[in-house]
Amino acid sequence: MRQTLVIIKPDAVNRCIAGKVIQRFEEKGLQIKAMKMELLQPYVLKEHYAHLKDKKFFEGLISYMASIPSMLMILEGKDAVKVVRKMVGSTQGRDAEPGTIRGDYSVSNQSNIVHASENEEAAKEEIKRFFKKEEIYEYKKMDFDWIYSRDETYMKK
Ligand code: UDP
Ligand code: MG
Repeated sequence: MRQTLVIIKPDAVNRCIAGKVIQRFEEKGLQIKAMKMELLQPYVLKEHYAHLKDKKFFEGLISYMASIPSMLMILEGKDAVKVVRKMVGSTQGRDAEPGTIRGDYSVSNQSNIVHASENEEAAKEEIKRFFKKEEIYEYKKMDFDWIYSRDETYMKK
């Protein structure tokens, strides 16, 4: 099983569609291992988006992300990083395919509803950045044996 970080961004919280976004992940079969609401501070956002520090939208991105609280989650499942990125869709709301979260709920390059880790390495780093060990829960999901086949359950990835 793999874990990935999702941030339900301020626009989704303000537009009252956080629940719909969470529901999509639940319905897909991903397990919520951690979840909290937090007003993200500029210093942590600057670290999180460091790869974009030279972009002209950087300052605007930080102030949007720090404007009101976000909802942060760790999702677990087989190939969770890839699965979640696919569900989220491409970065720019107007380009994102209908059926994806961004495609269905956004029309902006910036206010695009969710963040999802880009790859395995980023996921590990981001989970560490935003969650303490004691905020992450181990529990048995009762429908687990129906979500995956037996073969998949015994495979490592
Ligand atoms: N962003 C923006 N303007 C742009 C491109 C991106 O404000 O022209 C914001 C947008 O909120 C995006 C975030 O910067 O989600 C991170 O950009 P990245 O390229 O990492 O896209 P993502 O991984 O979120 O799809
Ligand atoms: Mg990214």
